[in-house]
Order: sequence, then structure tokens, then C-alpha cells
Amino acid sequence: MSNKLSNSPLGAGGKLKLAIQKSGRLSEDSIKLLKDCGIDLRNVKDRLKTEADNFPLEVFFLRDDDIPQYVEDGVADIGFVGENVLYEKNKKVASVEKLGFGKCRLSVAVKRNEEYNGPAFLQGKRIATSYPVLVQQFLDKNQVQAEIHEISGSVEIAPGIGLADAVCDLVSSGSTLFMNGLKEVEVILQSQAVLIKNKNLSADAQLLLNKLLFRIQSVKKAKNNKYVLLNAPNEKLKEIISLLPGMKSPTVLPLATEGWSSVHSVINESDFWNIIEKLKEAGAQGILVVPIEKMIV
Ligand code: ATP
Ligand code: ZN
Repeated sequence: MSNKLSNSPLGAGGKLKLAIQKSGRLSEDSIKLLKDCGIDLRNVKDRLKTEADNFPLEVFFLRDDDIPQYVEDGVADIGFVGENVLYEKNKKVASVEKLGFGKCRLSVAVKRNEEYNGPAFLQGKRIATSYPVLVQQFLDKNQVQAEIHEISGSVEIAPGIGLADAVCDLVSSGSTLFMNGLKEVEVILQSQAVLIKNKNLSADAQLLLNKLLFRIQSVKKAKNNKYVLLNAPNEKLKEIISLLPGMKSPTVLPLATEGWSSVHSVINESDFWNIIEKLKEAGAQGILVVPIEKMIV
């Protein structure tokens, strides 16, 4: 198929162009995800762009705030960016896949000694934030009028220096808020890194993206699952097998010790401890839990 009419024709050599954060909280995990997908980048230090050795991929290193625009314009075909930035910038790009890292929340916080009684507290107040669009949406939804002060960094110090009555900022542990005498009172967005794509990808770029997505999904599945090996007395096998979900049915092998078997299966992280406890109660012994590197289903 021709690329001529596309906004994002594949350049010479037909490479998929990916934009990731140059330096910041998403950089290391973005490069790590590519590595887990078997994609090694050449010389990532102090570069504007680089290429992968073993996948037709060109990588641009940018400020995270600029990534949605570059992807909308087709300078990059795809990008890894936080949902917080994606929704704040509101560019015409498609969100394709959650990446499972860069998890944080965008929250409203007020001074710890304030009595917060819901969004109405913010009526007529000054809110400092780097996310004016998302904060305005939150205020509108709650029919509250407030003054938004857009600042680009160190938002959490604004109440302490009398610049604002409240802040809306990214939080992960909450320790920065705590150290500045603030308390978190509303979560307005739960965020993580996502893969975004240009809306007019060429067929060739889409094919490469499908290949990359298949790898990303295999890596994510593997991270969410554990390989479990255990020993079971044969008379308890039926009960133990019924507790195991597995990809199909578990593998059962006889042990050298008469009357015992070894059972192998895959368990999802979300119900992991629950199942392990039940397995122990049912008589399983010598339970080994092993990380999975890739999981192709
Ligand atoms: P840049 O120079 O690229 O503009 P930045 O200072 O805007 O960098 P970082 O602080 O590196 O950005 O954060 C990048 C992204 O990491 C955030 O937009 C968000 O999606 C994610 N993130 C995860 N946890 C946090 C956190 N606790 N605080 C801030 N961002 C976080
Ligand atoms: Zn930024």
C-alpha cells in the first residue's frame, strides 16, 4: 500500500518512529520496556534520537509535554507518555495500550489543618497547578468557581508561601505533600504511561506497531503472572488442581517418592496470595514461585 497520502510516512528504511521522555520519571522504564521486548537502543546518552539494533525502530528523546503534539503531527508515529499529559494536552492522537509503569494520581491537596468538606471548599479559592485543563474540568463537573494559577514546577510550596489555598499535583507516595504540610483530599485522575499513536498511521507503520504491541502485551502478561511449582500427595491432587487456574490445565509429574506428584501452573498476581494459602491448606508442600520472562498465549 502507498504511504503517499499519510501524515506519517515511514522514512527511508521503513522504521517505526517512537517518542519517549528524554530524562525524567518515564525515561528508564520506557527503555526497560523496549529492552524486555528484545529491543536494544544504540547509545541513549545525550542524544536527540537513536535507532534500535534489532527492530526497525527510530527513537526520539523529547520533553514529555511535547510528545502528544509530535505524535499528532506525525513527526513520531507513536509515543510513550503519561495519561495525565495526554488528557491535559488533548491532542488528536489515539491511546492504544496502557504500559503498566509511571503510575501516579493527579490530586487536589489543601493545608493539613483545613477542614475539607468536598469540592465546594474550593469555591472562590486559588488553586496552583501545572494541569489547568484537567483542574478546570474537575471544577466544572462539580459546579465550583475557583481561580487557577498555572505554575510549571514546585506546585506543592504554593500554599506555604501564600500563593494559593490549594494545589492540584501529581502524587505517588504522598510524602512530598506531607513534607509541605498538605493533605490529599481529591483524586481527579489515576494515571499511568500509555502508548499513543498518530491517527493516520501508514499501513506499514501499523504493521510494525502490531509487532511491537504483541511483544509489549507478552511482557505485561508475564509481569502479571507467576510460575508455581509444588509437591502434592496424590490423594489431594484433585482438590489442588481445582484451585489452580493455569493457561490450560496444570502439568502433573510423578515424584520419585511414591504417592507424591509435582504440579506446575501459572497464577495471576491479583489472586496470588489467596490461592497460595488455599494450596497450603489443601496439603501442597515445597511451593516454589518463579517469575516469568515472556508469556505468549
Ligand atoms: P520533562 O522535562 O520531560 O517535561 P517533567 O518534569 O514534566 O519532565 P517528570 O517529573 O519526569 O516530568 O514526570 C514525568 C511523568 O511521570 C509524569 O507526567 C507522570 O506521568 C509520571 N509520574 C509518575 N509518578 C509521578 C510522581 N510522583 N510525580 C510526578 N510524575 C510522576
Ligand atoms: Zn513535563
